[in-house]
Amino acid sequence: MGIVITHLSHVYMKGTPYAKLALTDINLEIPSGAYVGVIGATGSGKSTLVQHIAGLLRPTSGQIQIGDTEITPDTKDLSMLRGRVGVVFQYPEHQLFEETVAKDVAFGPRNLGLPSEEIERRVIEALEWVGLAKELASRSPFQLSGGQMRRAAIAGVLAMHPDVLILDEPTAGLDPAGQRELLNRIYTLHRERKMTVILVSHSMDDVARYAETLFVMAGGRVVLRGSTEGVLQQADRLREWDLGEPEAARIAGRLNQRLDPPLRLDRFTPES
Ligand code: ADP
Repeated sequence: MGIVITHLSHVYMKGTPYAKLALTDINLEIPSGAYVGVIGATGSGKSTLVQHIAGLLRPTSGQIQIGDTEITPDTKDLSMLRGRVGVVFQYPEHQLFEETVAKDVAFGPRNLGLPSEEIERRVIEALEWVGLAKELASRSPFQLSGGQMRRAAIAGVLAMHPDVLILDEPTAGLDPAGQRELLNRIYTLHRERKMTVILVSHSMDDVARYAETLFVMAGGRVVLRGSTEGVLQQADRLREWDLGEPEAARIAGRLNQRLDPPLRLDRFTPES
């Protein structure tokens, strides 16, 4: 499913003394089947943005079109995106709660009202996708290692066969080998199932490795966008760009780390 966001702004606690403008006039398009990265310093609005795409927040103004579903400030029921847009937040294993891994992975598909044979098939398939042994299906999720719990939680999201998968810092707390393996598996699914993936990450290495397009956020706005190569090449521009926010300098610092030493110069093609 393609995503089109038009003039999206979001104010938390609107109408109170604590009102906080978190997103300002976001306009972006994510084609169906794309793999995009969203980067930016803490507080730049990344989570707020993806929560709108997941149907977890209602826009204060503007609209979000996901496939043929349109979300506006007047949309009453956001539940029509359930199952079609999957979200993996940081530490998703905190949401495991069933007696067995299989029941936990089955929770989402069951809520979609699928027949039990189909649910069973999807549980086995999703465990395979995340690299969890079948034998673990009958265990309590709380007997698993941290990395296995993370995989089980992600399997539960994948078992719903989402058209769009949002990953918000999905590998936080995993060891580097585990992080890479998990992201490689998700990348394979993205290719095989044409699943749109939105990866929110602090890791320049991760977004550079997997995403074809990057959106850089600062102060609630998308301040830079384009092909991953193109964005990574603009470290200097970002650093010099006076956004009036310390974020710009921090992002530029990270981009610079990414370029020095240049890890993937073979892929870099100058933009005209
Ligand atoms: P990021 O994901 O890039 O760290 P967020 O989208 O979480 O950024 O936050 C954007 C801004 O909105 C920040 O200033 C943050 O403090 C504020 N914010 C986030 N969530 C809430 C909330 N529930 N209530 C009030 N302000 C919030």
